[in-house]
Amino acid sequence: MKEVKNNTLYIGNVSTKELAAQYGTPLYIYDQALIEQKMDDFKAHFVSSDFETNVVYASKAFLCTAMAKLVKKHGLYMDVVSGGELYVAAQAGFDMRHIVFHGNNKSVQELEMAVRYGAGTIVIDNEAEARELAALSFEQKINVLLRINPGVEAHTHQFIVTAHVDSKFGILKSDTETIRSIIDTIESNEALSFQGFHAHIGSQIFDKNAFRAEIETMGSFIKEMINKTGRSFPALDLGGGFAAVYTKEDAPIPIDEVCALLIDQCSLINEKYDLHLKRLMIEPGRSIVAEAGSTLYTVGFTKITPHKKYVFVDGGMSDNIRPALYQAAYDADLTNRMNDKKTETVCIAGKCCESGDVLIEKTDLPCAVTGDQLIVYTTGAYGYSMASRYNMLCVPAVVFVKNGRSSLVVRRQSFEDLIERDEGDIL
Ligand SMILES: *Cc1c(COP(=O)(O)O)cnc(C)c1O
Repeated sequence: MKEVKNNTLYIGNVSTKELAAQYGTPLYIYDQALIEQKMDDFKAHFVSSDFETNVVYASKAFLCTAMAKLVKKHGLYMDVVSGGELYVAAQAGFDMRHIVFHGNNKSVQELEMAVRYGAGTIVIDNEAEARELAALSFEQKINVLLRINPGVEAHTHQFIVTAHVDSKFGILKSDTETIRSIIDTIESNEALSFQGFHAHIGSQIFDKNAFRAEIETMGSFIKEMINKTGRSFPALDLGGGFAAVYTKEDAPIPIDEVCALLIDQCSLINEKYDLHLKRLMIEPGRSIVAEAGSTLYTVGFTKITPHKKYVFVDGGMSDNIRPALYQAAYDADLTNRMNDKKTETVCIAGKCCESGDVLIEKTDLPCAVTGDQLIVYTTGAYGYSMASRYNMLCVPAVVFVKNGRSSLVVRRQSFEDLIERDEGDIL
């Protein structure tokens, strides 16, 4: 929760001024209670008497061992897409049966690792991967899903049907012969159990019709596969993509509503197509962590150019690549001057050597001076997880705050860390 006391922003009842003094800036600050509330909301509302349900946190949005522990504590499953993410989950003591392993190009080593760790579910992307997995020998049961490209694509405010047939993810729903062959390959290994299909149609989705289109498309597709193979497919994984609030223009479908919509639509196709679906999964990433995270910076210099005033901060595209990558929009405040009138329209830029290193193209602020603290909101998803060390800027620390206390969950990268893996002499 955010509050203003003495003109200063508090998050989780901790002063941002004190956080900056204690941990330095730039700093990723997560309101732990808000992450927990989002997880509990999904858990509480994605339930049904018709289906067994699983909420699977898509860890690529934000992952460190503390986050994996939080996911475990709140009883969610977790989706990983690489050996690295799998490793972090294991190191955090995450229950491997609750892992869903994704990825379009898992290496044989990663598949072996997933098997060795005892991952509960693997989502197969393509035929060659199915063969590699089926060729491994192991005892424990692994559930397998196949990622389907349903031809429904949603991005922010729009969705398109029959779009993007050339996606690098999954198998096109019309390619039923390949799908049938993948199922046979999987079933040739007795430890593998083919459970059904997965689809993920995009991210930051605001439109209910996008989810309706996804579910209807998957329903008719599953019916077709039942008819073609004579098999049943008890599980359906609908992926993630639930939106978060970045600026006041964003009005996502509330979690309870989107969960009810998904469940209702699945009950509908279950009846309409006689599918016998028994298990539903969703994979929220962004919607769990985005709003809980903020990035706190210190203002350095300002600069006036013919058409702009710049406010420079001590981070930039190295800790938040999203504005440069896809013109993502954010809101900001000066946390030490929360009640001051916003008198200027400024451009907030970082310190990286790229003209594109702009965090916010245009925002209103009080007249910022060197040493002010500036916060950018809703950086909790794909901020830290996409951070780089471009220009040898150290990756910021991550702190969790809750009930007036803070906990350093990832320490700041140090200069020593920057050369820790450098080895050997020049030739
Ligand atoms: C990225 C991704 C998600 C999470 O998407 P969000 O937009 O963060 O909710 C879920 N499932 C798959 C397969 C993904 O690739």
